[in-house]
Amino acid sequence: MDIVVENLTKSYGTQKAVDNISFKVHTGEVLGFLGPNGAGKTTTMRAIACSLDHDEGKISIGGNTTAENPNLVKSRIGYLPEHNPLYTDMDIIDYLQFVARLHNLPKEKIEGRIAEMIQVCGLEAEKHKKINELSKGYRQRVGLAQALIHDPEVLILDEPTTGLDPNQIVEIRELIRKIGREKTVILSSHILAEVEATCDRIMIISKGKIVADGSSEELRKKSEGNEILNVQIEGGDKNTVYDALKKLETVEMADIKNTDKTIYEIQSKEGQASAKAIFDMCVKNNWYIAQLSPIETKLEDVFRELTMN
Ligand code: ATP
Repeated sequence: MDIVVENLTKSYGTQKAVDNISFKVHTGEVLGFLGPNGAGKTTTMRAIACSLDHDEGKISIGGNTTAENPNLVKSRIGYLPEHNPLYTDMDIIDYLQFVARLHNLPKEKIEGRIAEMIQVCGLEAEKHKKINELSKGYRQRVGLAQALIHDPEVLILDEPTTGLDPNQIVEIRELIRKIGREKTVILSSHILAEVEATCDRIMIISKGKIVADGSSEELRKKSEGNEILNVQIEGGDKNTVYDALKKLETVEMADIKNTDKTIYEIQSKEGQASAKAIFDMCVKNNWYIAQLSPIETKLEDVFRELTMN
């Protein structure tokens, strides 16, 4: 079930929290929202999940708009809000039963579905407790269970792994990826590695606007400048090698990185590659290449470049 957001705008007073953004998310896609604090991620997710009215624009889920058919849209969405509001006086099972009934799940299916959610979200050991007796991570698991209980077509997860331990993070990521094969998922996170590992597509939001949209590979490529190589050359005098590197036609800049290991960082001229020239130079001088690897732009660098101003 596709999500289509067209020209979405939401202001609080004079501040535009979300500023005329448009995007589509298709079935079978996991979209990760990245952005600095206050970028507009939660506002966008709340608008999609019908928990917040927007000022302008249109949001459709499977062809139904949030403005015209909010109840139908809500029934198709599983939503884990940012602060994971729960009825903390309730037992876990009672709470999940309550949510299942709110979603009009057939009575005969409720028990089985709760058992499945308890298992899927790793709640087995704590399932007899009241929610206010649970640790933060276990509360987060209950939040996930309530978002999934009605087997929604669309999942909106605002920082789903907050408070989880590393084992559970891996399990929840796998679960999200699995769900994402058949459903439509949007999640937000501040953990860049998590978004890279879980999402097919990343959208970076800054000051209410979309500043990047693509796979992590595409984002890194777009932000990459000239080729930079890390090269370790052995068998020659350090400074002689350095001088020879600087003279290569394709090389813009050469730097000695680690004098003990004779590692050089070499930046090529725009649009040029230097590996072959370095290889030929080494063969000619009877030196040898102990390692040669490109330095890749990290998602952190892309994020900083696009959001630091
Ligand atoms: P974070 O990563 O910190 O959770 P975010 O990207 O989710 O941030 P939003 O919560 O969507 O950002 O907030 C976007 C902007 O809208 C912020 O400047 C925030 O202060 C403002 N904002 C959000 N909710 C309200 C509100 N109820 N009243 C006034 N301003 C609000």
